[in-house]
Order: sequence, then C-alpha cells, then structure tokens
Amino acid sequence: MQIAIDGPASSGKSTVAKIVATQLGFVYVDTGAMYRATTVLANRLGLDYGDEAGLMAKLVDAQIEFQPDQAGQKVFLNGEDVTLTIRTPEITNNVSQVAALAAVRTEMVKRQRQIADQGQVVMDGRDIGTTVLPDAAVKIFMVASAKERAQRRYAENITKGIDTPLATLQAEIELRDQKDSTRAVSPLRKAADAVEIDTTKLTIEQVVAEILAITKQ
Ligand code: C5P
Repeated sequence: MQIAIDGPASSGKSTVAKIVATQLGFVYVDTGAMYRATTVLANRLGLDYGDEAGLMAKLVDAQIEFQPDQAGQKVFLNGEDVTLTIRTPEITNNVSQVAALAAVRTEMVKRQRQIADQGQVVMDGRDIGTTVLPDAAVKIFMVASAKERAQRRYAENITKGIDTPLATLQAEIELRDQKDSTRAVSPLRKAADAVEIDTTKLTIEQVVAEILAITKQ
C-alpha cells in the first residue's frame, strides 16, 4: 500500500507521516529531505542554485540515503551525514529554486518511485499524490494557516535554542509556498482524489487518527 501526504511548508506532514508509518510498519520517505540534500550538493559544488546542467552532472551519481534513527531519520549525501545541514537557513531558503529545475525533479521522482516499488510506504512532499504516486491508495493534503505554521516552527526552534522572530518565519514560509505552488513543473497542489485535512486546530494525535481511519476504509 502507498500513502501519499502532500502539503505546504511546515504543515506538519513529516511529523504525522513518520508516526503513521511507524504505526503501520511502513517505510517513511521524506522527499523534501531529498531536494534539500540535492541543494546541499549544489552548495558544496559552489554552483549557482539555478545551474541545472552543472548540478545534474553530479546528481546522477550522487547517493542520497536514509537511515532510521531514534530521533526519526538520518540523511546521507554521498556517505556524509547531512541531517543537520539540510535544515540550515542557507538550504531552506534556496531549496525551492533547486526543486524547480525540471531535470532535478525527473531524477528525484525516479528515485522516489524506486523506493516505493520496494514495499509499503508513507511518502510526504508536494507532488506525491499528483505526480510521484498517482495510484496511491490513500492521498492526504495537509493544510494549516501560515500563522499557525510559523508558530509551530517558532516553538520547535526555541527547543533547539534558535530564536528567529515569528514574523520572519511566517514570511519565509509564505515565500516558499509561493515558489512551490507557482513553479512550472509539478507545482504544489492537491490531487483531485486527495482528502484535505486542515490541521490548524488539530493536535498531531488527531491528524494521525484521521489518516489511520481513512487508511482502514
Ligand atoms: O518538505 P520540506 O519543507 O522539507 O521540502 C523542502 C522543499 O523541497 C520544498 O519547499 C519544495 O521546494 C521541495 N519539495 C518539492 N517536492 C517534494 C518535496 C519537497 O518540490 N515532493
């Protein structure tokens, strides 16, 4: 079975997807982490983030791997642990530009389908229900107000000792949403057959319960 969970930045997709995958015994695939690792690759190569040919020359042979970990999942780029690097502002603020490159998307979608072909998955991202796994048995589109998403990110940051102002976080989230939903290739959008869940006023447990109930239907 394939479960596709899409939605805008910081909508809580990965937190929820991870729990759903654990409860069902499925593999969890964080496709955003793959685009983020690709952005780290561009950065390491000193490339302009819009340099599609330069990036593709290295990306085709690059290894992006996940390893289960107590805190969730570790992400490796060519054997190097980039779990923390992929969440830095440099990467977060430039990943949408890299993810808009058509050849990058083709490569990522190919890899994501290969992982999904290996078994039961919960995959989260922006285009899973529309493009990567159009035949997924369950499709969820998670939304929440930008204010609520910024507040959640703020609270999460505080636990990590990061104190970016709430307004800055909200502006960054809105800018990334705008870039992700207006790009030419596979923009962020709800699949026609996806169930939309507005998580603004829901707890993580409530969202998980709703998805598990949909999965059992
Ligand atoms: O999910 P996350 O916020 O980590 O994703 C980072 C970025 O990767 C998104 O803002 C988007 O630009 C890109 N992305 C994408 N398609 C996906 C997953 C992520 O374009 N399936």
